[in-house]
This record gives sequence, C-alpha cells and structure tokens, in this order.
Amino acid sequence: MPRREAYTAVTHAQHDFNRRYDYELPGVEMSEEAHTDRPGRVLVIVAHPDDADFGVAGTIARWVRAGTVARMVCCTSGDAGADDAATDPLELARTREAEQRTAAAVIGYESVDFLHRPDGALENDLALREQLVRIIRQFRPDAVVAMDPTIVIHEEGFIQHVDHRNAGMAAVDAVYPAARNAMAFPHLALDEGLEPCNVDVLYLYFTDRANAWVDITDTIEVKLRALREHASQLRKPDELEHMLREWARKDGERIGTQAAESFRRISLR
Ligand SMILES: [Zn+2]
Repeated sequence: MPRREAYTAVTHAQHDFNRRYDYELPGVEMSEEAHTDRPGRVLVIVAHPDDADFGVAGTIARWVRAGTVARMVCCTSGDAGADDAATDPLELARTREAEQRTAAAVIGYESVDFLHRPDGALENDLALREQLVRIIRQFRPDAVVAMDPTIVIHEEGFIQHVDHRNAGMAAVDAVYPAARNAMAFPHLALDEGLEPCNVDVLYLYFTDRANAWVDITDTIEVKLRALREHASQLRKPDELEHMLREWARKDGERIGTQAAESFRRISLR
C-alpha cells in the first residue's frame, strides 16, 4: 500500500475509535480536511524579522482578509544577521524592523511590537515571559501562533535556530499557565489592571506533528510579496520563492488544494 493510503487508513481507524468512545486525544486532531477555524484576534510571537512571513503569512493574510485582527511580537530585531562581523548592529536592527513593518502592512497586521532582545542570544527567561503575558493580557487574542519549540532537527533536515526554539517555548509558557493565572506576575493585575486571559488555541508552525492545514491558495502571492520586503535578508530571492512555493504545494497536497500552511494545533478550551 502506498504510504499516503496507509496513513489515511490509520487516520480513519483512529477517527472511528474516537467516535465510538467519544474520546479525543489531547491536542491531536487527525484530519485531512482543510482547517477552517478563524480566530477573531490572533497574536503571532516570533524570534526574528521574517520568521512570521516565512511560516504563516499566507494564513494570517487569509484570516485578516476575513476580518481577523492580527498583531505580531518580534522578540529580537535581527541585529546579528549579517555576514560581516563589523556590521553596526543598531543600524541593522533599524533596517530589519523597517522591513518587518512594511511586510506586516502587506499582510495586514494591526501592529508589530519589537522587544529588542539580543539576536542569537534570546533566552526564555521570566522577564521575557512577563513581557509576553503583558501583551497577551492587553491584546486578548483568541489564538497565539508561534514556532514549535520541541523541534531541534526538523524532519526535512534543517536545524531549528535556538532563538526560534526559545521564542516558541516562551510563547507556550506565556499562554499556559501564566497569562491565565492571576497570581503569575500579580502586579500586572494589581497595578496595571491587566486581568488574566485564557487563550483558546495555540498554532505551532515549522512542526513535524502537523494536524491542521490552512488553504492559502488565495494568499500565497501576498505572502511572497511580504517576504520580498525583507530585502536585506534575501540573497537569492528567486530560489527562495521557488522553495516557498514547494513547501506550500506539499502542504496543499494534504488537503487537496494548490497551497497550504501546516500547524500543530492545540486546543486549550
Ligand atoms: Zn529566524
């Protein structure tokens, strides 16, 4: 039996089991239908300028065009991402932030926050968690999007940057339990009036445990346009575009569309 058919058979057997026993595996929804949920408010938390546009720009553009309000938090400003060690990191950060703001406008984000943590040295510490919890409680998103922090070596063979892992883990730790726990950073509630916030859904991307595929057939061109705004990071834009179209095509195959982005979706309701 070809691999895809074998996977489908196992998936259907699992569905039948779940239906018969009214049992849902926590955080795992096996489906090859396009994922059509749309959060009213979504917060995207990433390490670097361009991280969100590589991974989720098609989905965010689709959601925003349907009425979602989106905000992005960029933990660093990409200030260590050049080939020349003598590069002025502040100048580089200014360039990268400007590029990310322009790209975010193409996608339709309401705003972008830069936390100005050091590029290449991002730590998932309590100070970062507090910053993220403050933003979550202010913005009150239904869903948070971040990179899957459990990936060190991706199944495609690439190494997951340590900043990506730490930003992803910081996002997970901020969503649960800190954002919803009144006694986590109590001054946020007592002094700043920021009440606890329950985020309903986490979408983790660049994952090898995808369980949700969003159709981006109508927004892949917008995604590629946003990515071209990161001009200082693009050495070979044509090759990059080809690679991204390939990723989208492969994800699209899972749900029978021309293009898709994939996520590990965790429901926290
Ligand atoms: Zn990155």
